[in-house]
Amino acid sequence: MKGYQCTNCPYETMVEVAFCPQCRQQAFKEKEVPNIGEVYSFTTIRVAPPEFAVFAPYQVALVSLTDKLKITAFIQEDIAIGDSVILKEVREKAFVFKPVGLE
Ligand SMILES: [Zn+2]
Repeated sequence: MKGYQCTNCPYETMVEVAFCPQCRQQAFKEKEVPNIGEVYSFTTIRVAPPEFAVFAPYQVALVSLTDKLKITAFIQEDIAIGDSVILKEVREKAFVFKPVGLE
């Protein structure tokens, strides 16, 4: 999937930002980033906001895609830190991941 890399420093992001939070310049180039990563940390949401209530309980996880890039992911399945997860879909600008090997 597509990500963005600052042209001036190693900062990477998945969402378009107006300027780089690390060096504050405004030029980015598109970069292909892996759609598979590892669960870095997660929280289980049992009482969800109304728009996500139908999915609860679910996990909001920080997934490392590369050593510099972590993204916030929604995962419905049970997970543990260190699990490999793969992008399932982008829903309402949210990245929905699922454990690798689970169909
Ligand atoms: Zn930068």
